[in-house]
Formats: sequence, C-alpha cells, structure tokens
Amino acid sequence: SVRVRFAPSPTGNLHVGGARTALFNYLFARSKGGKFVLRIEDTDLERSTRESEAAVLQDLQWLGLDWDEGPGVGGDFGPYRQSERNALYKQYAEKLLESGQVYRCFCSSEELVKMKEIAKLKQLPPVYTGKWATASDAEVEQELEKGTPFTYRFRVPKEGSLKINDLIRGEKGLSIDVLLLRMCDSVLKVSWNLDTLGDFVVMRSNGQPVYNFCVTVDDATMAISHVIRAEEHLPNTLRQALIYKALEFSMPQFAHVSLILAPDRSDSSSNFCVTLIKQYREMGFLPQGMVNYLALLGWGDGTENEFFTLEQLVEKFSIERVNKSGAIFDSTKLRWMNGLHLKALPSEKLTKLVGEQWKSAGILTESEGSFVDEAVELLKDGIDVVTDSDNVLLNLLSYPLHATLASPEAKPAVEDKLHEVAASLVAAYDSGEIPSALAEGQSGWQKWVKAFGKSTKRKGKSLFMPLRVLLTGKLHGPEMATSIVLIHKAGSPGIVAPQAG
Ligand code: GLU
Repeated sequence: SVRVRFAPSPTGNLHVGGARTALFNYLFARSKGGKFVLRIEDTDLERSTRESEAAVLQDLQWLGLDWDEGPGVGGDFGPYRQSERNALYKQYAEKLLESGQVYRCFCSSEELVKMKEIAKLKQLPPVYTGKWATASDAEVEQELEKGTPFTYRFRVPKEGSLKINDLIRGEKGLSIDVLLLRMCDSVLKVSWNLDTLGDFVVMRSNGQPVYNFCVTVDDATMAISHVIRAEEHLPNTLRQALIYKALEFSMPQFAHVSLILAPDRSDSSSNFCVTLIKQYREMGFLPQGMVNYLALLGWGDGTENEFFTLEQLVEKFSIERVNKSGAIFDSTKLRWMNGLHLKALPSEKLTKLVGEQWKSAGILTESEGSFVDEAVELLKDGIDVVTDSDNVLLNLLSYPLHATLASPEAKPAVEDKLHEVAASLVAAYDSGEIPSALAEGQSGWQKWVKAFGKSTKRKGKSLFMPLRVLLTGKLHGPEMATSIVLIHKAGSPGIVAPQAG
C-alpha cells in the first residue's frame, strides 16, 4: 500500500519549496488511496524548536494538507518525532555493528583533522583512512577499557553498484561513482570517484545518530513506500541506499523533485522576494490560490487548463507528469492565480472577506451592508489578492463628487476642462438636482441622466465620457452608474471611516 511522508526539520517556518514537497506527497497519497505521514526531523537539537514545529503544522493546516499519521494525530508507526526515536536508532546501529557493516572508530578529532590535511597535501579526497576499519578485536578492547570515546562508522563497500528507482528521473542503474559524480557536478561542483565516499559516521560519540541514518531507519520502519522530496537530497540518497542494503530493508521508490528557481533562474530560493508560506497568508493570499500555484511548479495535467481546486488536483495528479527541469517561481502568476480563486469563491464569502479587509484597513466603518455588497460586486474584477481591495476602493472614492463639485476652488478647473457639460453639471449639483437624484439610487440617477442628455442634446459616448470624467475624475473605471451611486453613498455619514478622509 502507498505510504508517503513529509519530513520537515522544525528549524524555521515552512517555505514554498517545502510546501510544494508536502503538496506532492499529499496529492500522491490521496490519489492512490494511501497514507500521508508527517514526521518531524528534529535531530538537530540546537536548531529545532517546538515553536517552529507548531508554525510548520499551522501552515500545512492552512494549506489544507491534512496528514493521516503524525503529531497531533498519532498512528501505528509512532513516535513521529525523531528526537523520540533514539532507542530505535541505537538498536539498528548495534545490529550493524554485530554484522560488521559498522565499526567503532576511536580516532580523535585532531587525528581526523590531520587526516584531512594530509589528504589535501597529497591532493587526495578527504576520506577516512584510519586504522579502525581494519583494527583487531584486541585493539578495540584496549580502547574500550581505556574509555576512549568512539563513533560508529559505516563500512562503505569499495565496489559494486546501486540501483535507484526514481519516478521522476526514470529508473537508472547507477554505479556509486556515477551517482557521486552526478550529484557533485550538480551540487558540489567537485569531481569524485568510487573511492571517495569514505566510511561515514552513523552514530556520534555522544550516542547521537546522524541524520541519514535516522531517515533510513524511519522510512523503513514506518513502511514508507515512496520517498518524494527535493532534488537537493540526492546526495543523501546514496548514503541512505547503502544503509538500506546493509540493514536488508527493501528500498522505497524515490522521486526527486527538481528545484524551484528564482525568475533569473538562479537556484537560490532566497532570491525570490517572498519565500515563506506564512508571509503569503499574512499578505491575504488564499490557501486555494497557493495550493494551485504550487502544484503548477513542476506539474501540469497535460492540457491548457491551469485552474485546479485541491480536490481536482487529487483527481488529476500523477507523479509521472512531474517535470525533471527546474520550475520558475513567478509571483505575478501567483497573484493572478489567487485572483481566479478569489473570484471563484461563493459571493457571500468574497463579500465578507473584502468587507472585513475594508473595515480592518480603516476605510469603512462597517464590514457589511448594502454599500459593501454593491462595492464588492462592482470592484471584484480588479482584485487579485484581498489586500488589493484597499487601493481599489480608495481609488474609486478618490474623487468625491461632493467635495469636487461643491468646492469653489474646484469649479473653475472643472469648467475649464469640459466647459459646456461642466457648467450644466455644476448647476445641477448646486440646485440639489443631482444629490436628490442620487439619493434615489440607480433608478434616480438613470432618470436624471436621461433628462440631462436631452437638455444638453448629448447621448452615447459624448454624454457618458464627460460625465465619467467630471464625476469620477477618471477616463476609465468600473460601471459608471453603480460607481457614481456608490461614491455618493460613501459621502453619507457612517459609511466611510472618518480617519480615511
Ligand atoms: N528533513 C529534511 C528537510 O527538511 C527532509 C528529508 C527527506 O525528505 O528525506 O529538508
């Protein structure tokens, strides 16, 4: 059965790369009727915090990526925090010690440093060349008696090949050196060969297992069937594969997802301005928009369609369609995508969201009512992210009829621009004709415009253009009658918050 996991290290907030990995795992599990496991990789005790863990969980929940097993949910394969699984790692480390695939290394850190320096001088790769790989039992006993601290070192086979089945990169039988070469070419830009992996530490002298060992033991004992993670973990995959073999665990299928690139194609995720899910949430993005956009970073259903709900993604997702090449993060497209989801909300939801935004931004006194309903309906096309709605409304209200038409300083300017219509308009305003027509709402306005057109012998564009310019201060804008009635309403007490003046 399909079991996948998302394994964040709780050393900070969830970033877009992590969120995409979580999403792909979630979609894979849901589309296969499998289980989505959340495992907290807090082996780095200095950098891991419970606050970060809580923040990551909150972000996943906000995105709607609920997990079947893990913190807060439980499950049969727990505990789900690495810091609580030490006994298990120890047990497997001992097993490897017994079978001889791991040995005790009593080298001091000074010796190790010296070893590296010598290797450097001889222009050799910095691998472990100490005697403990081949030490006799008696030599080991002697050190144990002295109480010399030791690490557990993994005995890397000096020849042979490994087969990595990667669902995104295809099935490839890669010899260790080819894999190393590839990973170093792309990640470290150093060339390596077979002899250069070196026997690596799996347990430190303080009894702390190292990261790659924990991940392998966890994935195997949690019965993970598919490991879907970022490409940057490819170097780890090699060490993990060796541990799988040594422990005679069956290997999961791997799927290494390519990097998310900044718009300039650099692979440093810090290059795009906003990287944390939390920041997008605070900026007013919708989880639906985020999820849809993240899914498109490296995946598509093969058609032109780009709009997907989470349910539709579950239905359409397939790991085979995930792209091998890097995906570019385009924040303009993300905004647009968010706009699609915003407008797809049921209208009461959209109205509530925008109304609350206007009230909390201090533009309106109330978050609901007919003014909000009409304004949202009129302005929603111009809103991609809910926080945009502030400017959209302020822009509409930036030319208050009353202030302009009623203020003596404004009159000459208005009259200058479109003198003929303007003069009649000012007269109609001063006589109270326009205000009382507007007080009757749309129908009152419509009636007045008709009469005004008749008396000024204008119709169509030559009537509406001057009216729009004179009454809204803009050449273009949303539907004019609604706009003008709303602008008029905004002038009534109790609609616009006083401080927004
Ligand atoms: N804990 C790792 C990370 O946060 C993920 C390791 C994995 O998926 O194997 O990058």
